[in-house]
Amino acid sequence: MLATLAQLPSDAATVTSGVTALAARLAPPQRIECQSGWYPLLVALDTTLSQLAPDYHLLSVKEKFGSLHYYVDINDDDVRSPQERTELCECVSAVIRLAERRSARLCEICGAPGRLSSKSGYYTTRCPTHRPLTRGSEPIATA
Ligand SMILES: [Zn+2]
Repeated sequence: MLATLAQLPSDAATVTSGVTALAARLAPPQRIECQSGWYPLLVALDTTLSQLAPDYHLLSVKEKFGSLHYYVDINDDDVRSPQERTELCECVSAVIRLAERRSARLCEICGAPGRLSSKSGYYTTRCPTHRPLTRGSEPIATA
């Protein structure tokens, strides 16, 4: 299945082939719902997951509460037994959790080191250049 422009974010001009391949894993109308600063992280995550579970289903990719949320399902073709499925799911979940935590330290706009902060309940992860909420925003400790 080829990715269509409708599946890609609005700044598709910066999309790499890796992100295009990632978007092709999404079933329309799902699309990548985060900005390009996290694209290298997404491509690295997809590369790792593809080695663990080549035919994994990508259900959703989005920014939520200032960090990446990446939802997948394991294809039955990638496992030979219930035990193997359980172990693969645990491993895939751990890899995704690491990437999601990492996103909370990377500016969603440019990918530079950033900080998760909130203002009025709206969470973002931004570098100093892209942080619009300096006054009144509260940094949030991340693990
Ligand atoms: Zn930035």
